Amino acid sequence: MQQTDPRDPPLRFAVIGAGMAGILAAIKLREAGHEDVVVYEKADRPGGTWRENTYPGIACDVPSHLYSYSFAPNPDWSHRFSPGAEIQAYFEGVAERHGIDRITRFGTEIVRCRFDEGRWQLEAQDGSTDTVDFVIAATGVLHHPAVPHFEGEADFGGALFHSARWDHDVELEGRRVGVVGTGSSAIQIIPAVVDQAAEVTLFQRTAQWITPVENPAYDEAERRAFRETPEAMQAVRDTASRAFVDGFANVLIDAESPVLAAIHQTCEAYLETVADPELRERLRPDYRATCKRLVLSPNFYEAIQRPNAHLVTEDIARVEREGVRTKDGVLHPLDVLVLATGFRVDRFVRPMQVTGRGGVALDRVWEDGPFAYLAISVPDFPNFFLLNGPNSPVGNFSLIDVAEMQFGYVLSLIEEVRAGRCRNVGVSHEAAARFDAERREAAANTIWASGCRSWYLDAKGLPTAWPFTFDRFRDEMRAPRLEDFERA
Ligand code: NAP
Repeated sequence: MQQTDPRDPPLRFAVIGAGMAGILAAIKLREAGHEDVVVYEKADRPGGTWRENTYPGIACDVPSHLYSYSFAPNPDWSHRFSPGAEIQAYFEGVAERHGIDRITRFGTEIVRCRFDEGRWQLEAQDGSTDTVDFVIAATGVLHHPAVPHFEGEADFGGALFHSARWDHDVELEGRRVGVVGTGSSAIQIIPAVVDQAAEVTLFQRTAQWITPVENPAYDEAERRAFRETPEAMQAVRDTASRAFVDGFANVLIDAESPVLAAIHQTCEAYLETVADPELRERLRPDYRATCKRLVLSPNFYEAIQRPNAHLVTEDIARVEREGVRTKDGVLHPLDVLVLATGFRVDRFVRPMQVTGRGGVALDRVWEDGPFAYLAISVPDFPNFFLLNGPNSPVGNFSLIDVAEMQFGYVLSLIEEVRAGRCRNVGVSHEAAARFDAERREAAANTIWASGCRSWYLDAKGLPTAWPFTFDRFRDEMRAPRLEDFERA
């Protein structure tokens, strides 16, 4: 292994993406004493998914005191599950307080990263270039909209857009609004628009299990108490963490878990609150709760039972000038059609072209689906680390927690270089293959593989998310096993 002088010129870092994970990485790098850090962000402000998703009703279904950085608690959250605009303001505020906006090049999309002579050559869409020692890819998961194309959609006389590209110029008051999809986005949109719209039509391909939640507001006295007694705020966070992580994330990997059976029963009981037996049956899924990402809602069933709400379970045949025609020949007249159809979750850093050691293209390495050792490192891509990358834990818990743990791990790897023990560090082929084989085997026993279609599955139907306990993830993230890494 090559020994380098720790007093070499300071290491230079590029963080790609100024969303939740990118802001975190930049803050933590600087806290660790790395001064030469640049964040590249293609948009004109930070915030990632919270900047892009502005649909009516958007909120995070992870309690706000848990969905916060551990180092930046926020006593002023308005609700147990605060709305998206508040979350966006929180990230912008944290980025500003830590000076991250000042080291971010907004409006600059990195299109190519090439590993060359031990460093990464970056090229942006505007033609500018940079050379860095490390790339932190914080490009998000739920980022590239999945947009289905329906025959005849070009003829549609109304407005048509994806839920993550909400067109706020389109008036909803008194209009006939159609929503395609029954994921978390659609289930938040329907209650938020049902009062405004003349008619709301939900096009459901697959019914969805829904867990009821309450979303009380924090009053001023509670917020003052959080400000004055940070321990009270920490206690709320700890309680939520225990409920979401220990009571949920740890059991998803065991399809036979009694906890999952209890969640199923809760969802079934909530479905019973739908008064009309015919509507109730059409809303009843034919798979187990938590097979898909569990949807939490305080008011979806109430909204879908309104006289101006309609549930359509026939498949969509085509879009016409007047609206959507389903396969039974019925035309559903619409003024607005929202595609709440999810995201292309296999993209990760792509379409950025990443070329590693020996000219190997990431696209090629990921030909059979994206993977990364412990969700962080890919062989032949030294000094290139992913946050919330492939095989990362996903589910109804805080991805901020996940990213914080991952970045602590990445910092330990960076320390190998800063200390002069090597110049480049990346997982070995052998360790990556071992991890991938183990995670594939474990994936088959998870609840996600119990018989439903979801974005948790790869093209062959195998769950891609972290298939072990959350406790194991926490343990793995405590410190890298350096023998699994090639250091050069
Ligand atoms: P999603 O969960 O992937 O749901 C997409 C929906 O669109 C599904 O119901 C799907 O039907 C339907 N669909 C897709 N293509 C279709 C087509 N061609 N015809 C008819 N229906 C079609 O997407 P999402 O609701 O945007 O949520 C994605 C993820 O974002 C969530 O799982 C969650 O992780 C995150 N999210 C979180 C929150 C939050 O509160 N924290 C809120 C929103 C989103 P099938 O089920 O039949 O495939």
